Amino acid sequence: MSITENQIDIHHWTPGSRAEPSVRIGVILASDGCGKIEMVLQGGPCVIGGNGVASEPMKAGTAIQIERSPEGLLLRIADGVIGPADRLRIDPQEQTDSAPGVGILVRDVVAGRGFHWQKKADQTLQGSVEFFATPSGIVMVNELPLEDYLVGVITAEMGSACPVEFLKAQCVVARSWLLAMTEPKHDDEPFDRCNDDCCQRYQGTGDMSQSAIDAVRGTRGLVLIDPNNKVLDANYAKSCGGISELPEHVWGEPKPGISAIVDAPTDDPVQQFMPVTEDNLDEFLDGDWLDKTRAFCSTHIVPVKTISKYLGRVDEVDDYFRWTVNYTRAELESLLRANLPEATGLGELRDLRVTSRGVSGRASKVELRWIDQTGSEAVHTLDSEYRIREVLHQGFLYSSAFALRIARDDSGAIETVTLRGAGWGHGAGLCQIGALGMGLTGHDVDAICQHYYPDAELQAVYP
Ligand SMILES: [Zn+2]
Ligand SMILES: [Zn+2]
Repeated sequence: MSITENQIDIHHWTPGSRAEPSVRIGVILASDGCGKIEMVLQGGPCVIGGNGVASEPMKAGTAIQIERSPEGLLLRIADGVIGPADRLRIDPQEQTDSAPGVGILVRDVVAGRGFHWQKKADQTLQGSVEFFATPSGIVMVNELPLEDYLVGVITAEMGSACPVEFLKAQCVVARSWLLAMTEPKHDDEPFDRCNDDCCQRYQGTGDMSQSAIDAVRGTRGLVLIDPNNKVLDANYAKSCGGISELPEHVWGEPKPGISAIVDAPTDDPVQQFMPVTEDNLDEFLDGDWLDKTRAFCSTHIVPVKTISKYLGRVDEVDDYFRWTVNYTRAELESLLRANLPEATGLGELRDLRVTSRGVSGRASKVELRWIDQTGSEAVHTLDSEYRIREVLHQGFLYSSAFALRIARDDSGAIETVTLRGAGWGHGAGLCQIGALGMGLTGHDVDAICQHYYPDAELQAVYP
């Protein structure tokens, strides 16, 4: 029995289906330019199919090679060649329970595409695999039940030291995001999601952590339902900075089920800053209250040095809750010339100010004024938090929740610009470091979901 015979795919799934869907994950992508794939069957017997192709069951231990030839895909096993075909598929003959090391071993799969830590590693995949011939090589897709996929995601994204209630909250969010399917990222490709940070990191199920298995099993089928009775496309970000942001200040429109919350117990001093405005911003960023706060994402609850042990790779800074970026005027000018097409002729930066903010202090509009190289004045507005973070930093600014502190000389010319900021990410929905802080201080999955999504409801959509 192959997986497709008894499972609904995620595109045809609705809460009324009351059944676990399967998902299709792009494991080797067209952009990888892969011409040959080496595999070993490690589970039970498998059958090969594809366009007009069918095989006898193959035993565990069988080595398989798939190659992109000019005529199409060729599958080589010890005693022969199958193909050419433009699509091939390998299905396990029986569905087996998740277990580490069971499945199809694939050699040299790319992880971390485009990042400095990009590498190739062997991966073990449960469920079925499918291969497509493309002009640049082979696309490989792993089709498997959603819950098994989630074990792989939680293992890849989260350290095994994480408190299990935090992992459960991550499962609920990841499951909701998948089932909501509101973000079409790979519409023209033969899979739903890729295996990288572009979607969610997934490196197969070869080394599943026990805590990931426990968290997924402990929340089976559990999702967030928005007030319109739809599965919530549950946004999350690394650190809110004390107050989370409304979707309208991030993406320009509200989202049912996502509101802004204060990320702290009800008697915490950070409560006084909701909403953050120009008037209380400096106190929010630097006040004495920071010594006393028990905000869940503050360093009092989650010390910075411990974060990488829970959340995997993080950038090396002292503090995500509060941070500082300094520029000389010349540095900021060259940054603007490089990052902003409208500013290539920028001569002298005269002013920059935040003209619109959300409730967490995140800027959604920044106005820039400069004199261009011909001597005339120019004005430009960065009009989204994303654009602000992209333009005002060489990499990507941690967040747009910052105060601009500008030092000028006697003539009024800018000397330096300091960005004093809070948080990491867009800040809407669940705050990951805060949810970790809640898990570390004894809150369970219900409390964590209730806290970050007070307008949504937890519901099991399949048994
Ligand atoms: Zn993707
Ligand atoms: Zn937070």
